[in-house]
Amino acid sequence: MSHQDPAQTTSPTPPSPVWAGLRGRCPHCGKGHLFAGFVEVAPACDVCGQDFSKADSGDGPVIFIIMLASLIVLGSMLVIDTIYSPPMWLQMVIWMPVMTCIVLGMMRPFKGVLITLQFHHKAGQGQQVKAGPKPDQDAAA
Ligand SMILES: [Zn+2]
Repeated sequence: MSHQDPAQTTSPTPPSPVWAGLRGRCPHCGKGHLFAGFVEVAPACDVCGQDFSKADSGDGPVIFIIMLASLIVLGSMLVIDTIYSPPMWLQMVIWMPVMTCIVLGMMRPFKGVLITLQFHHKAGQGQQVKAGPKPDQDAAA
């Protein structure tokens, strides 16, 4: 705990990670931009300088989006099919663009929330545990 990033000492009250992520803002100051493109993470915060180089949400947002978008679209599709029985081509014409809009609309907020939650919980790479006797094993021997 001897080294502390100077960017982490300037903001006494960090923003809510969910709110900052939904708005695509910096998890540290809540003011700078988290994204440099549509879903491309910026190298650092443009306000406080927080380093985003280790931010990696991986496939996490996609899994949540697939499940939520499928629930919305397939549920709506089943309801419409039960009530109106439209032909399949009409279902495809309606629901393919709807699915595309829902998925694209959720990409940035979900990715933002997962990245800001990683910063909030100080998530990092797993560390290898060194092999050797455990302290209680030495005491028992
Ligand atoms: Zn910032």
